[in-house]
Amino acid sequence: MTQAATNAAPASAPITQDVLTIPRKLPETGRVNIIGLTREELREALIAAGTPEKQARMRVGQIWQWVYHWGLRDFAQMTNLAKDYRALLAQAFDISLPEIVTRQVSADGTRKYLLRIAGGHEVETVYIPEETRGTLCISSQVGCTLTCSFCHTGTQKLVRNLTAGEIVGQVMVARDDLGEWPQPGAPRDETRLVSNVVLMGMGEPLYNFDNVRNAMKVVMDGEGISLSRRRITLSTSGIVPEIAKTAEEIGCLLAVSFHATTDETRDRLVPVNKKWNIEKLLGALREYPRLSNSERITFEYVMLDGVNDSDDDARRLLRLIRGIPAKINLIPFNEWPGAPYKRSSWERIESFADIVHKAGYASPIRTPRGEDIMAACGQLKSATERGRKSRAEIAAEARA
Ligand code: SAH
Ligand code: SF4
Repeated sequence: MTQAATNAAPASAPITQDVLTIPRKLPETGRVNIIGLTREELREALIAAGTPEKQARMRVGQIWQWVYHWGLRDFAQMTNLAKDYRALLAQAFDISLPEIVTRQVSADGTRKYLLRIAGGHEVETVYIPEETRGTLCISSQVGCTLTCSFCHTGTQKLVRNLTAGEIVGQVMVARDDLGEWPQPGAPRDETRLVSNVVLMGMGEPLYNFDNVRNAMKVVMDGEGISLSRRRITLSTSGIVPEIAKTAEEIGCLLAVSFHATTDETRDRLVPVNKKWNIEKLLGALREYPRLSNSERITFEYVMLDGVNDSDDDARRLLRLIRGIPAKINLIPFNEWPGAPYKRSSWERIESFADIVHKAGYASPIRTPRGEDIMAACGQLKSATERGRKSRAEIAAEARA
């Protein structure tokens, strides 16, 4: 079997959520990292460390506030806890975030962080400031099992799932870097720098469902980082069995990497389509707004020159999504070294957008951000990871 075929595992054997998940205890210290534990998990961990059961709920609330509201990293400073209890916590727990290896700032203000996580692996997180808000694009896996032929991350094998702590940690690292934690005594500042989170970085979030769900529970919790579920968008390539679960257990907004209007083309661009084709995917998407009580689904559509960008494609797309509350996000293809596609011309993109717009759909064209630092959609990849596919493999997949 070729490497590429091995890499295309999901078509035949989808990885389960607990595969490749590392244990919670930090290997370096033997202590449990608090970051990313849900309230219930934290409660259990506190009891296991010697907290009397009757007090555990209250202690969770106190620690939670220090960590997620104030951004504190040191148990010794948690002044509403008894001194010897703080010492007990410091013995059993850590408050530990991924480490920033590099931080690049683009000419347009976009910031790309390369973060090191346990095992020496690296992931990327991108902060995109806009006039009235700021979006943080976070990763859910190191690499990806899927092999979308236009995606840079797809050229990197899956190394492992991120833990919930590593997912929440990306949000906290960005808030640290932007200086976004509230200052005690200072008037509450309601303008948020990280006002939105999109799960659109490296990896397929629905192949790491439990960790993504738990992380989002922490991020959405009203006593901490407190981002509403409507400010979180999860993007999936179309892992159909997990879509209803996303609605029920996370309830965030959904984006789907649609990218093609026939199974033939989608098989080639998003190979997981061979397992869950357009019809099956649309079936799950039709149910999503009702199950999650949310609004429109975002259909992401990468514009690839001569591949999926004709006026006929635009019209077919409209027929397919009829009846689904939708917004269509056109993404000009972001090129990367060795990519087997070209970006559609602006005239083509505008013509496609026009057809969609006239049919009554919002059809924003996603302005590429941070291209100068390779931070744009689909350009993320940890350059240090080994196990890359060769150019020949990428080209062969694109032709297949
Ligand atoms: N795995 C998830 C989320 C990460 S990708 C998914 O596939 O949805 C985030 C978005 O960027 C997806 O819509 C993806 O298809 C798109 N994308 C990937 N590579 C791209 C590229 N080179 N240019 C433009 N968009 C790309
Ligand atoms: Fe993975 Fe998404 Fe890239 Fe496809 S587009 S390879 S699912 S990260």
